[in-house]
Amino acid sequence: MISYAEYLECTNCNKTFDYITPYRTCNDCGKVLYVRYDINKAKINFDRNILSTRINSMWRYFEMMPIKNEENIVSLGEGMTPLLSVPNLSKSLGCSQIYIKDEGCNPTGSFKARGLSAAVSRAKELGLSKLTIPSAGNAGGALSSYCARGNMEAHVFMPKDAPTANKRESLDSGANVTLIDGLISDAGKISREKAQKNGLFDVSTLQEPYRAEGKKTMGYEIAEQLNWTTPDVIIYPTGGGTGLIGIWKAFQEMYELGWIDKPKTKMICVQASGCAPIVKAYESGETNATMWENASTFASGIRVPAAIGDYLILNAIRESNGTALTVTDQEMIDCIQMIASKEGIYPAPEGAATLAGLKHLLKSNIVNPEEKIVLMNTGNAYKYLDMWKS
Ligand SMILES: *Cc1c(COP(=O)(O)O)cnc(C)c1O
Repeated sequence: MISYAEYLECTNCNKTFDYITPYRTCNDCGKVLYVRYDINKAKINFDRNILSTRINSMWRYFEMMPIKNEENIVSLGEGMTPLLSVPNLSKSLGCSQIYIKDEGCNPTGSFKARGLSAAVSRAKELGLSKLTIPSAGNAGGALSSYCARGNMEAHVFMPKDAPTANKRESLDSGANVTLIDGLISDAGKISREKAQKNGLFDVSTLQEPYRAEGKKTMGYEIAEQLNWTTPDVIIYPTGGGTGLIGIWKAFQEMYELGWIDKPKTKMICVQASGCAPIVKAYESGETNATMWENASTFASGIRVPAAIGDYLILNAIRESNGTALTVTDQEMIDCIQMIASKEGIYPAPEGAATLAGLKHLLKSNIVNPEEKIVLMNTGNAYKYLDMWKS
């Protein structure tokens, strides 16, 4: 198989970079780099009908993935998670077609597996063997697992009040774990310092171009699972925003490949009321977000006070006619129980936040009950059992 990955492009200043040097962010403006593909060649040579013969993981989209040599793929079978229709839930909300994309089925119990499979694979391809990450929890666990799988070294910087599962999975899979008295943003500073000092490659969210490529595969899968259509609404629990902008990137790529019609999906961002920098920026019409002080929510994956990709998230929301809104921790707990008791899916708090968001959106008529709605359940509740009481 041939990957049509061709170069990197800055999403802010459009400067381009070669595809052999391990760049992290734009060396001119410091903003986020995207992998760009030779779409014209891919359009001729990558027929979506070939997918029925492909492996049942996110690597089935190899031509539009960032790894040049298949041998460098470090995989645990991530992706191709079920897109479940949820009739009981739909009925109780008066909706006709709600789906849950159940990312809790991924290796390591969250969709962080996608991003880190891609980032670790590409690091291996570029000859980088020592990786460091600041993490709210799940990303650290995923980096640790994929580094173990790829015989690489993982360094994880995580808040000391992250879920127990995240600390233990990182330690048990052999990572060097440092617990921080602070948030992911504080962990980020320390991770960057260690990277500088000890020659580690920092794979912080959107500070290297490849995690987003792993997460974009959710967009490819949703379209494939809906028989090459896109839903009317996608509700996404937003921390660093990699998945939201990744899905939007995937939709643009598939449109350029001629695989789907112009996507009309409204991209909707849900955040916790205790940590909502993107919602605040969206509501005040800003193109960038400001740091959220004293961030607090038990949904650790969205306890992210500042996102380097803020402008990309806000742009995807606005370009898609989406919106952004907050929900409370108590609403998330209620929705974990509602999803579990109505459908037997046991969602992470972040995944439950999408249902809490949907309830508000229906009440305010921003989403109508006839629309095809996809809720992103980004992880598995089993990883959070110490974070709330039933
Ligand atoms: C990291 C994480 C999120 C937020 O994902 P982003 O793409 O960084 O916005 C949501 N849910 C879970 C379970 C996570 O681990």
